[in-house]
Amino acid sequence: MSDNQPQLIDRYGRQVTYVRVSITDRCDFRCVYCMDEEMTFMPREKLLTLEEIAFLVRAFCELGVEKVRITGGEPLVRRNVDWLFDKIGRLKSSTALKELNITTNGSQLVKYAKGMKSEGVDRINISLDSLNLKRFKELTRTGELEQVLSGIEAAKQAGFKQIKLNAVIMKGRNDDEIIDLAQFAVEHNLDISYIEEMPLGQVSHQRHESYCSSDEVLAILKTAFVLEASDANTGGPSRYYTVAGSKSKIGFISPHSHNFCDTCNRVRVTTEGRLLLCLGQEHSVDLRAIIRQYPNDIERLKQAIMDSMAIKPEGHDFNIQEQPVIFRHMSVTGG
Ligand code: SAM
Repeated sequence: MSDNQPQLIDRYGRQVTYVRVSITDRCDFRCVYCMDEEMTFMPREKLLTLEEIAFLVRAFCELGVEKVRITGGEPLVRRNVDWLFDKIGRLKSSTALKELNITTNGSQLVKYAKGMKSEGVDRINISLDSLNLKRFKELTRTGELEQVLSGIEAAKQAGFKQIKLNAVIMKGRNDDEIIDLAQFAVEHNLDISYIEEMPLGQVSHQRHESYCSSDEVLAILKTAFVLEASDANTGGPSRYYTVAGSKSKIGFISPHSHNFCDTCNRVRVTTEGRLLLCLGQEHSVDLRAIIRQYPNDIERLKQAIMDSMAIKPEGHDFNIQEQPVIFRHMSVTGG
């Protein structure tokens, strides 16, 4: 990044270098911790268009953002998503952008993985919560495990390195697969992160009943693997361990047990163009209103983004025991 590029620094001295953008709230899966069985999706006119998203991402990257993650909902169900990858990928030559990454459920990777590689996508995170056909269907409600496994293979064949699996562990639902999931990652040269379930939106179970802490997951893994704490840092919230005898890393995203707010370098843009300064708080700025009122005025947009640093909260206040105070589902926010 050139020295004279403006930077996004909040009141606590944290520099924002990472933006996650949810490009659709729709998904072909209905994961039990993420969505309700019956979801009402956003009307199309409320969604940012792909052109608006590309414009917004350019503004962030001209303000020093180095890493962009495209997520959702399921980003690969959005029509013409490949146009967006290409457009953002090209920002690497003219802005601070270094990495374009996506998070996906993997269901569409057979179709998209190869193209994504040439469009400039650097890294892929793939959600995988079970290796058991029947259980996978129960947890995702509509997903097919084989399709995701083929998607993982397609991503490897396309030449993606450091593919990472994400597994949300829930007591009594998939905590008996903690070791199997890590074994799968090791056998396929993948990394894996275990995620503590977050209280975002109403779902059909009580979050505190399924809560499984990262420490519990780690203790179980240590019965099967020799793990060593690593200082690997991918610029995200994961804490990593290396696995003896393998190239795989095991990560933990622990919003409850190991709060990571003091090193937060992230903001998010929701499906309808709301800049969210924290995953667990409602502090936000309506960027869609600015883009639609002043189309093509990138300086005005950049100023609004810079001003938003004044309201980035110190931290999220997740409380697993309480009914959700954050009513938006992860699919709108972008995981
Ligand atoms: N559809 C894509 C996928 O499945 O990865 C991207 C969107 S999804 C919302 C992104 C990530 O958020 C997934 O890894 C998912 O497991 C995670 N996630 C969703 N709801 C969550 C929750 N309430 N707590 C913790 N993680 C959650």
